[in-house]
Amino acid sequence: MNENLHYQQHIYNGTRAELIEAVHAKLNESRFDHVMRVEQTALALAEVNGVDLEKASIAGLVHDYAKQRTDDAFVAMIKKHHMDPDLLNWGNAIWHGVVGAEFVRDELGIYDEEILNAVRQHTTGAVEMAPLAQVTYMADYLEPARHFDGVEEARQVTAKDLAAGVAYQTEHTLTYLIEKHAPIYPATIATYNYWVANKKMKYNY
Ligand code: GDP
Ligand code: FE
Ligand code: FE
Repeated sequence: MNENLHYQQHIYNGTRAELIEAVHAKLNESRFDHVMRVEQTALALAEVNGVDLEKASIAGLVHDYAKQRTDDAFVAMIKKHHMDPDLLNWGNAIWHGVVGAEFVRDELGIYDEEILNAVRQHTTGAVEMAPLAQVTYMADYLEPARHFDGVEEARQVTAKDLAAGVAYQTEHTLTYLIEKHAPIYPATIATYNYWVANKKMKYNY
């Protein structure tokens, strides 16, 4: 996608280059490079799944926009927007998406709920995920610098069926977190119950 592209004005009032610059200003180089790869991966997934390319580009570019904010900044944002107080029991891994969307809206002027939901849902998934959120969730997991065990299988599954990719990531991330004895955020469990258990998806992986 062209740097000079001016996004549809009601979604982001600026060019792609301007949005990239605004994101770059808030991220270190390695995180910024990740974001650029997620955008490209999201565009490729959007193309084959009939998802709006400009929204995929924007969601990819802003999904980790708040990743490097301080804990204090997240706590202040949770209070400012009267968000669920249970959020205060979590940390950056959960906040940068769920609360990060509020930074995207407040600072970048992006009000499109589909994009904001893609940001909110990019770490934990959700029961109801629009195709744009599925694309963002999978692009973050599959961008070319991801090298975990099973990533090639995950890429193949997702290339065949985006929803199967969502199920694959959800199951594998939950297993990984349990093996680490990490606390599981309630939305992560809800995502698992819906996308993996209830759907009883019988994918060949
Ligand atoms: P990144 O921001 O590009 O590094 O990737 P993500 O936003 O997908 O994930 C951030 C971190 O959150 C990863 O280490 C995930 O394993 C972790 N994570 C995802 N779901 C949960 C959860 O329910 N609980 C905890 N504790 N961590 C989670
Ligand atoms: Fe993230
Ligand atoms: Fe990411």
